[in-house]
Amino acid sequence: MIIITKNNMLRRILSVLIALLINVSSSSATADSATSVQSNLTKAEQQWLAKHPNVKLAEPRGPLLKRSTAILISLGIFLVIFMTALWVLTLYKTKETLRISENKIRQQANFDSLTGLYNRHKFYEILSEEIELANEHDENFALLFLDLDEFKEVNDTLGHGVGDALLRRVANRLRNRVRSRDVVARLGGDEFTIIISDIKNMNDLKSIARNICSAVSTEFMIQGHSINVSTSIGITCFPHDADTDEEILINADQAMYASKNSGRNRYTFFTDSMRDERIERSQILQDLRVAVDEDQLELYYQPIVDVKTGRVVKAEALIRWNHPEKGLVFPGTFIELAEESGMINEIGEWIFVSAVLKAAEWREKYEADFQISLNTSPIQYRENGINVEAWGNYLAENGVSGSAIIVEITEGLLMESSYGVKEKLLALRDNGIEVAIDDFGTGYSSLSYMKKFDIDYLKIDQSFISTLSPDSEDMALCEAIIVMAHKLGCKVVAEGIETMNQLQLLKDADCDAGQGYLFSKGLPADEFERLLINEQSKHTALFNGKTVITYLPAEHSDSLPQAPLEELEAIEA
Ligand code: C2E
Ligand code: MG
Ligand code: MG
Repeated sequence: MIIITKNNMLRRILSVLIALLINVSSSSATADSATSVQSNLTKAEQQWLAKHPNVKLAEPRGPLLKRSTAILISLGIFLVIFMTALWVLTLYKTKETLRISENKIRQQANFDSLTGLYNRHKFYEILSEEIELANEHDENFALLFLDLDEFKEVNDTLGHGVGDALLRRVANRLRNRVRSRDVVARLGGDEFTIIISDIKNMNDLKSIARNICSAVSTEFMIQGHSINVSTSIGITCFPHDADTDEEILINADQAMYASKNSGRNRYTFFTDSMRDERIERSQILQDLRVAVDEDQLELYYQPIVDVKTGRVVKAEALIRWNHPEKGLVFPGTFIELAEESGMINEIGEWIFVSAVLKAAEWREKYEADFQISLNTSPIQYRENGINVEAWGNYLAENGVSGSAIIVEITEGLLMESSYGVKEKLLALRDNGIEVAIDDFGTGYSSLSYMKKFDIDYLKIDQSFISTLSPDSEDMALCEAIIVMAHKLGCKVVAEGIETMNQLQLLKDADCDAGQGYLFSKGLPADEFERLLINEQSKHTALFNGKTVITYLPAEHSDSLPQAPLEELEAIEA
């Protein structure tokens, strides 16, 4: 519209200019005719003029002045036209640039640049709208929360380029498996969400979920690589399970984790029991904050026995929670929550301080080389975790050598090959603290990690020990682990020894140390101390060339497994 008006204006300016130019040419014609009038004077008149040189004929100024003004005006108009044209062009260009960048901003604000699906921001917006619409029209919808199962492995082994291409292909397949009015979004990483509106029956929903699982688990060929991944899906329904966007997402996420935990490549519907579990977890978390402040946590100690000498050489510190209403609570109930909430750092510090003080005491009372092995969480190796310098200072202030402490880490931690982890582990070792890999055999650590992180002990997971029998697969594994560890300069502790038979087999396989109910379960510090003192006299009597037996505190023997007790009695008899 503006441009059309400008064109009209331009046309008008041009016509004025042409008229002026015509005027200029007519003015110069007038000037020329004045000169010719002058030359037309009579001879007498010309002679008279020659005699009077002071007398000058008036010059034809009028036409000459008009001519220069016209040129100036023309130039001015040219300039105005030029400037206007420039201005119009610039205006047009700016408008175009603005339009393009507006589109770009809208695209970036609403769409995921990698897959072209809706992004997290837009998804939240749509979810709120869906809730409003469904409320208005008394309708329902389902939210599917998807997480790819092996995406990290693809990224780690084939690189981010292939990972990105895989995400794009997954996005396409998801789009193709739902109706055009259903909403597919990528929340970030390998997380996707799908809103299926107006569900007529649950079987339709199940069949969509099944379809998606099979679409994602069908082989991908990317840059010459054959890639197989799968997806875990959590499904929640509005308004049946929740009526706020926040709760809908929490539900779907929780159901997705249920899918992960029950074997991946499947879908799980959110249930009421999941909600109960969530409420209980948040209650535990609340109580745990109080527990930390009010000193309800306690360290129990389980003996670690040298299988060759039968002596208790170390103790593993195991955390317990003296809950005011629930009684003794085991770590399985709260460590994960402490990790998720970050409280594990504070708890971890308390564990270290308590263990150092006990180690100092027992080194003095019992044996100078005595060690306490404490469990650490991977979270403690991240930022805000263990302050190695502070730990070193604390040891020094209390006159305790670093070698009094062993930190137990998970195999998974070694896979987190971030710089910080290695740094911290090596710094701990510089302070004399030893490092053990807990539950060895259940994760994916490789031999190279043993050397890289300078590991001192492998603790064979109790799942290998519980089924130990001569010529069994577990026996072969234990033997292999022991030989390999020794070759790499590591010692081996077997966890969960419950029977004399297991102990004998491990001893024959050259295992260094063991722990388990056969010796004793975890005990409060004072009871453990009694065990240490008694063990000093007892182990020599019972260990005399025959076998190891340690003290079993009477008040705990009821809860111990029957088989080992029977075996113990048989041996003692
Ligand atoms: P873990 O470090 O592998 O500890 C050994 C677990 O096996 C302990 O369970 C112990 O009581 C149990 N156990 C010991 N001997 C036997 C046996 O002969 N048979 C059987 N069936 N079990 C045996 P607990 O105390 O419930 O600890 C469970 C896990 O919780 C620990 O596994 C450890 O990963 C974690 N944990 C315990 N204390 C702490 C702690 O202070 N900090 C952290 N971060 N984690 C801890
Ligand atoms: Mg442990
Ligand atoms: Mg363990």
